[in-house]
Amino acid sequence: MKPQVEIYDTTLRDGSQGEGINFSVADKLRIAEKLDSFGVHYIEGGWPGSNPKDIEFFAQAKKRKFKNAKLAAFGSTRKKNTPVEQDDQVRLLIEAETPVVTIYGKTSMLHVKEVLRCTPDENLAMIGDTVRYLKGHGKFVIYDAEHCFDGYKLNAEYALATWQAAEKAGADFVVLCDTNGGCLPNEIAAITKIAAGNLNCKIGIHTHDDIGLGVANALASLEAGAVQVQGTINGYGERTGNCNLTSVIPCVALKWKKTSVPAKSLPKLKELSQFVDEIANMRHNPRLPWVGSAAFAHKGGAHVNAVQKLASSYEHIEPAMVGNERIVLISDLAGRSNIVIKAQELGFKITNDTPELKAILNRIKEREHQGYEFEAADGSLALLIRRALRHEEPPFHVDAYHVSMRRDGKQNACKATVTVRVAGQKAETVAEGDGPVNGLDSALRAALVRYFPKVKNIMLTDYKVRILDSSLGTGAKTRVLIESTDGRKEWGTVGVHDNIIEASLGALVDSVEYGLIRK
Ligand SMILES: [Zn+2]
Repeated sequence: MKPQVEIYDTTLRDGSQGEGINFSVADKLRIAEKLDSFGVHYIEGGWPGSNPKDIEFFAQAKKRKFKNAKLAAFGSTRKKNTPVEQDDQVRLLIEAETPVVTIYGKTSMLHVKEVLRCTPDENLAMIGDTVRYLKGHGKFVIYDAEHCFDGYKLNAEYALATWQAAEKAGADFVVLCDTNGGCLPNEIAAITKIAAGNLNCKIGIHTHDDIGLGVANALASLEAGAVQVQGTINGYGERTGNCNLTSVIPCVALKWKKTSVPAKSLPKLKELSQFVDEIANMRHNPRLPWVGSAAFAHKGGAHVNAVQKLASSYEHIEPAMVGNERIVLISDLAGRSNIVIKAQELGFKITNDTPELKAILNRIKEREHQGYEFEAADGSLALLIRRALRHEEPPFHVDAYHVSMRRDGKQNACKATVTVRVAGQKAETVAEGDGPVNGLDSALRAALVRYFPKVKNIMLTDYKVRILDSSLGTGAKTRVLIESTDGRKEWGTVGVHDNIIEASLGALVDSVEYGLIRK
């Protein structure tokens, strides 16, 4: 069955124009495969005429099978005053051997006169010739009408003539582009209606987010007659980015209940969003609508209390529908309910009436005041709750440590000594490391492994340092967040101190302790 809204992904082309985004050919292939298995309808792989990396991408992509998506090569209309069959950039589009070719051309009289510097008729001929030539080579042709809305506002008659030139030459789609991203939803809707009323081919929409309306404008156009939406995962793109497909896709499916990507893909939306960020080496934006880690995070005590009673009271959808989850933030705003939910998540049998609850709450507030943060440090939080509930000795103590560092020419070496106490016995070990924290980590493990063989399985996966009050310079407080795994589960632990080594040791000790006690 044909979907009601087709998803055209341009993360690999328009998205790669974004600041800080630089995909290798291997990155592009991995993202293309992921998008294909997710079920988008078109993947724009790049512009072979603009760089050799994109030519290489299409050479590699030819050898692969895409199950759901059609691959598109992107380019422009032929150069002015040049026969289309002699245009190198157009030749490269055909050599990319993709089923779909997308070309852009000028709608705006301003751009024809001032940027292209050719006659209005030559521009129409450039559009018509190129579309016709690509159709003659058996391509499915998508025509992107650049500056379509601004051009229409400037000279409606000429704008219409450019779209009709593409249609007459056989274009399968005319895609209306808000290239500068400055239009409003009502303008987008009105002009889309006019285009749909004057063209027989299908209409698509391509928007940018310059005034924060990329998604809203795409939806306005889809409501007014467009059936294809172009955008990028996580809204990557030049300036403030393109229309964000990780917002458009769930709006179409869950708010409009229209068909687009396969329904079974929606719960994988967050995973897709995180995957693309990881490949791009971008930090996942917690405030991304639908898929951000904060999208269903509750902080205010009253909200948490209500969510506990009825999830829908402060949530617009069930987070799992897009693969997200409800998070209860532990913060100084927290009421009892937050702690209870979080403690239950961590496996503690605790209710609103547990007598130790007040002590736990006070301890968290006190620690937060010192600079601790428990949102990503579930391991440290679990230990804090556990210590309040059960009056047990921790499995080990660190009684003393010593770290030394020296540099000899280009070589530097770090040595750490740690003294631990386990059940009344003391053990001292020495280890070397690449740096002081690595040395401490090695020495701590070497000391503990004879008592707790499980220590061997615990691995550090990430180490992050944040200076809390930078105005104090080197005297500032340091917060260290460590992520660890035992191969089955990940956890985070936190340490805070004026001294970075001490802060690191605090997080390290929590990491090992939590790894030992967790079920
Ligand atoms: Zn664009």
